[in-house]
Amino acid sequence: MHTYTLKELATGLRARHYSSRELVRHFLDRIAQHNPALNAFITLTEEVALAQAEAADARLARGEGHWLTGVPIAHKDIFCTLGIRTSCGSKMLDNFLAPYDATVVAKCQQVGMPLLGKLNMDEFAMGSSNETSFYGPVKNPWNLACVPGGSSGGSAAAVAAGLTPAATGTDTGGSIRQPAALCGITGLKPTYGRVSRWGMIAFASSLDQGGPMARSAEDCALLLQVMAGFDEKDSTSVDVPVPDYIAGLNQSLMGMRIGLPKEFFDQLDSAMARALEEAIAEYRKLGAEIIEISLPNINLSVPAYYVIAPCECSSNLARYDGVRYGYRCQNPKDLKDLYLRTRAEGFGAEVKRRILIGTYALSAGYYDAYYLKAQKIRRLIAEDFKRAFETVDVLLGPTTPTPAFKLGEKLGDPVAMYLSDIFTIAVNLAGLPAMSIPAGFLDGKPVGMQLIGNYFEEGKLLNVAHQYQRVTDWHRKLPPGFA
Ligand code: GLN
Repeated sequence: MHTYTLKELATGLRARHYSSRELVRHFLDRIAQHNPALNAFITLTEEVALAQAEAADARLARGEGHWLTGVPIAHKDIFCTLGIRTSCGSKMLDNFLAPYDATVVAKCQQVGMPLLGKLNMDEFAMGSSNETSFYGPVKNPWNLACVPGGSSGGSAAAVAAGLTPAATGTDTGGSIRQPAALCGITGLKPTYGRVSRWGMIAFASSLDQGGPMARSAEDCALLLQVMAGFDEKDSTSVDVPVPDYIAGLNQSLMGMRIGLPKEFFDQLDSAMARALEEAIAEYRKLGAEIIEISLPNINLSVPAYYVIAPCECSSNLARYDGVRYGYRCQNPKDLKDLYLRTRAEGFGAEVKRRILIGTYALSAGYYDAYYLKAQKIRRLIAEDFKRAFETVDVLLGPTTPTPAFKLGEKLGDPVAMYLSDIFTIAVNLAGLPAMSIPAGFLDGKPVGMQLIGNYFEEGKLLNVAHQYQRVTDWHRKLPPGFA
């Protein structure tokens, strides 16, 4: 059952080939067997999952329910779950039981998707390797000596290894797409505002966006249908209708214009480029027209991001002060001591680095030189994309510069780590939707292909990805140790 797509699982449930309870039991057994090697889960919610599965079975028996009723899911531990630990990968929130459900969590629950547990992640979603987690790194199921990517590394590893049929992730600078690429699964970062951020712990609020991670584009379409939509509790969620993503999946690609950003390919390793060339050839066969385009300011995206994201994080993370919730140091002498020691003891090194950079960049005298400048660059980057979408429908490129790298390899060099998001970050700065889909292997490790769409064109992106997945089977491969 762990090799099935969401659609296959849902069909099997309806045909009574198994109950939701049996399905949940199967995935819980897989987790018990394989999680010790992968460390993908921070918290297991076995009893919750079984109770929700029974409720789902009852709904299905009455002939009620949604298409995904009874199909289990696991959430990145950045989404608040009522009464269940929501750690955000940090010692600071290790003892935090969320007092409410995030909108995304509530929506999955309303359709009756049992919750298997909460997934490991980089601390406060800051990282590209899952090594900054307070709960230890996640391993890549394709090669246990390698990282799964980050920050949604637990989500990507769990889906790839068949410990859950689908997961949620969040993407501030690439954290859905980069781990999806390194673990050989499909992930979609929606347009900023498409999915509610309410109850999603904030890192950099103007960039953060939640989205689906699953085996295929079709699965992501099913899940996005549940996750997307206006939420009055999130003032940045956008009130535009949510199309029927499944109905949009069978459009021909005849005449579709696919743009290749030349700056992406100029910097690409030749073995990675070869893998993508094969994918591009598939698209030609499907009738797409391939057009080279240019995003002239794209190389400024990493530096601009590493000003804007730390600035926003320094402000967002000011709330963890030991007063209201989360970690509190022992025996504080006075209020100042409480603040200082709580934050010194509760946050890890990468989070502290970002808070320091952000606080510095926002301070009087530096604000204009750094933050304001970065915001101007952000506008230039968005305009590059706007121009590109005047001539093409979607953009295609690599998701990452290399396949999964070794655990520890980039830990001592933050800049090398930051550069692993060189192809994903611009999309967040512009607020666009983008996907990563499996497009081959290099040395036994998955290679991801990135597709970028215009605002609110998730449907078009999903269709472009789905057409490719109809003629290829990279997305159906399972890591050898987890078949
Ligand atoms: N790796 C990037 C960072 O460390 C992006 C993280 C993310 O998308 N949450 O900030």
